[in-house]
Formats: sequence, C-alpha cells, structure tokens
Amino acid sequence: MNTNLIGKIAVFTATGQPLEIRSYTVPALQAGEVLVENLYTTLCGSDLHTFCGVRQEKTPSVLGHEIVGRIVAIDEQHGGYDHAGQPLRTGDIVTWSIFASDPQSTLATQGMPQKGDGLFKYGHAQLCGEDIFHGGLAEYCILKPYTAILRIPDELPLPVAATINCAVATVAGALRLAGSLRDKKVLITGMGLLGMVCAAMCKDAGASSVAAADISEVRLQRSIQFGVDRLINLQADEGNAMQKTIDVVFDMSGSPDAMEMGLDTLSTGGIAIWVGAVFNARKLQVDAESIIRRLVTIKGLHNYNYDDLQHALNFLLRNFNNYPFDGIVEKEFPLSEAQQAFDYALDNKPLRVGIKIGE
Ligand SMILES: [Zn+2]
Repeated sequence: MNTNLIGKIAVFTATGQPLEIRSYTVPALQAGEVLVENLYTTLCGSDLHTFCGVRQEKTPSVLGHEIVGRIVAIDEQHGGYDHAGQPLRTGDIVTWSIFASDPQSTLATQGMPQKGDGLFKYGHAQLCGEDIFHGGLAEYCILKPYTAILRIPDELPLPVAATINCAVATVAGALRLAGSLRDKKVLITGMGLLGMVCAAMCKDAGASSVAAADISEVRLQRSIQFGVDRLINLQADEGNAMQKTIDVVFDMSGSPDAMEMGLDTLSTGGIAIWVGAVFNARKLQVDAESIIRRLVTIKGLHNYNYDDLQHALNFLLRNFNNYPFDGIVEKEFPLSEAQQAFDYALDNKPLRVGIKIGE
C-alpha cells in the first residue's frame, strides 16, 4: 500500500546537537502494519535522559514515545481489531504499547511481553533505511505487527491520552505488582508525573492513606490534588518519621537515598516496588537481616504488559475529571519547536511538556 505522504520528523542526531526537522516520504506499509498520524506527544523523563546523554541510544533517532494519534491506513494483513477486541477503522484515535514483541515468546507468555523476543520500542530506535517513522516527534508513526493498539474515546483530552502508553501504564504495572491496596498505607517517593498518577491510582484502589516524599516542596504541595494526605520533604529530612508504618512503598525517583529510606518505612510483610531507577546511580545499602526479619519483598518494574496498558486507559476514563490531569502539560509546543520543548522541560522541570502535531 503506497500512501504518497510526506512527513516531518524532528531527528535527534547527537547529545548537544539541536533537533533537525527533516521531511521523509512515508514508506508503503509492510504486512500487518498500521499507519497513524501523530496528534500529540508528551516528553517523558527518559526522552530527556536520552537527549542529555544520561542514557545512550543509537542515533540518528526519533524520540517521543508517549503518543496519541489517528489511524490513516490499516494493512489488510492486520487483524483489524484493537487489543480490547474493538474493530479498528481509519480515523480512530488510538494509543499503543511502547513496544512490539513476539507474543508467543516465553517471556511474553509469562506476562512480560516488554522483554519478549524481537523487541522493538517506539521512540527509542535508530532511523534505518525506510524504517524511520517509529517515534512521537514526527507527523506519522507506523505501528509494527504485535503492537497492542487501544482505541481512545473522544472525551479523553489528547494531552492526557498521550501519557497512557508510558507513565500511566507503567504505574498500572506497579500497582499490579503490589497486589490489593485496599486499606493499605502507601508511600510514594518521587512526585513527578508517575508519582502523581500513582497517588491517584492508589486512592482509586482503596488505599487508606497515601504519603508522598520528594525534595521539591512545590511538587509535594501539588500532590495533595492527586490524593496524597501526608507530605514528607526529603530536603528537611522528614523521612525518618515513617519508620516501619508503611505497607507498600513505590519508588518513582530512582534516587538511592529515597529507595533506602523507603525500605526503612516498611512494616512486617511490606512490599517495595522500584520503578524509577532507570539510569546509572550508586548501589544501594540494604540491611539484609532487617529485610528478612520484616518479611519484606522488593520488586522491580521496567515498562509494563498488555493488561497494564488496558488498565491505564480504564483508570483515566474513570478518573480524568476527578484529579487535575488537565494540568499535567504545563506548556505546549508545535513539532517545529521540539528543540524549544526540550529546552523548556530541562530548564523548568514541569510534569510534562506537550508537542501538538498537525493543525
Ligand atoms: Zn517514558
């Protein structure tokens, strides 16, 4: 299927180099692929890490993986249904899993498709031949076979919908690992967007209390609107106050200090879920005897599985009006100003900046 379309991509060539807006012909769809016109992309923390060189990926590449778009064409060898079993049609607004992988591979069948065979990740890959439209900082994205696609109802605002396929789905995965949160006391360390979403999701799941820890008083104050009922300013060394009172601690910060503090807060049978530490940092100091005697469990989560993506969408559809999700994008840029969007995000550390693509 030839589309005769030309699309712009904000190409990332190297750390320290400005993004280059280049135009490319949209290639013919391969078997089972779906062509999407990107509508909105939000910049995730890992985009900023790659941009700054904290995280190394092959270049040139197209960044941006929190994406929502509109279906332009569906190859006839695609099954024609989304992950929820709804028929897909041209014009549908969709999001999709951050990855595509072989659903029959061993890890996929064990509930870890994000580590399955043939793994491909949107917004992380090198431009390679005609395989170039695979990120959010572009006018189009071509969805590969075995990508879980979900139709987005019209009522969900695009800047909110864009965050589903990284931030919100990852938090959904973290809650899956935690098990039931009904009447549980929760602590969240790191109140970026994942921390805020985690607070709201824990409230939605019936947690009896949700405490938040961060080094930013501004973020702590803001977290109250997302359901947090106790604030711990780590700059003021308030972490010790919670010793052995918490049932589940989620770390979204990746800070070794925060993770060590979080372990100390866990009561007998407590669970620590670590999500944030996706960059190089010092090794943790863990008191193994204390972990053993308190029957503490530590679990790590990277990305998410298909069920988490569905739960993320369901959670937002129930709650996007109950919490101030409409304010998570603090500034919006057109694709032509993607460079300025990165500069703004790095200088101001908003929860998200948005890239509005198209008219
Ligand atoms: Zn991300």
